[in-house]
Amino acid sequence: MHIPFTCTRCAEEGIAGYPTGYVDLSDDGKHEVQCERGHRFYVILQNPKYELLMDSGALALGDGYYREAVASFAAALEAFWGFYVRAVARKLGAPEDTIPRLRKELKLSERRRGAVSLTHLALTKTNYAPGDDKVSAQLGKRTPTGFRNEVVHEGVFPPRDEAVAYGAWVYETILDGIAELRTHAPEEFELELRTPLADAHQEIFQREPEVRRTTHYIGTLLQGGAGVPRRAFEAVLGHWSQANAWQSLRLEEAT
Ligand SMILES: [Zn+2]
Repeated sequence: MHIPFTCTRCAEEGIAGYPTGYVDLSDDGKHEVQCERGHRFYVILQNPKYELLMDSGALALGDGYYREAVASFAAALEAFWGFYVRAVARKLGAPEDTIPRLRKELKLSERRRGAVSLTHLALTKTNYAPGDDKVSAQLGKRTPTGFRNEVVHEGVFPPRDEAVAYGAWVYETILDGIAELRTHAPEEFELELRTPLADAHQEIFQREPEVRRTTHYIGTLLQGGAGVPRRAFEAVLGHWSQANAWQSLRLEEAT
């Protein structure tokens, strides 16, 4: 997967088209790039990991790689669960310096799922029920977890309709979780979004204070579905593909 970027120096000189170029997506969100005219700078991607993984799944779906799509959707949900638990932990009073260890301790998917159940209960006073029963009918009566395990661990090639049903379930589950955080823990939600971004800027600044940094935001599938009323997965998927996914972005200069 690669992301578009614009060189702000070229833009200042009035010679940049958009995009100036593309760079491979980096897992840590930090991208060292050099434009055709030799300007070197860093592009820091603002989108949370779960948005990027969801888009990775949608791109695979569009290309007919249904197994890879399911694997990416599953990874998106797990990334979101980690995000959710950390945001609620902050809401419950966890000091900032405890968050990195929490992140490490929740690397295993079963632990993460358990932590989501508890933090969801603490936050909303209701049990966590992401509609497993409803989607199971579309997954050959398998639970979403059972389906994911078959695809990811046993190498099963799912048909398109099952990959889409699973993707739609992940999409709804993540958007429900975001809505809960926005309602019950809006400050912690924003903080969880901002922290990796601030860390990335700081790390680069300490290493290379003279090099320019820009923050990019990619228009993602989950962003497209987050409005009110929420749009159905397949409708958003169609719009997202037509809108030329990964081409639209907002550009902010680091100060
Ligand atoms: Zn340039």
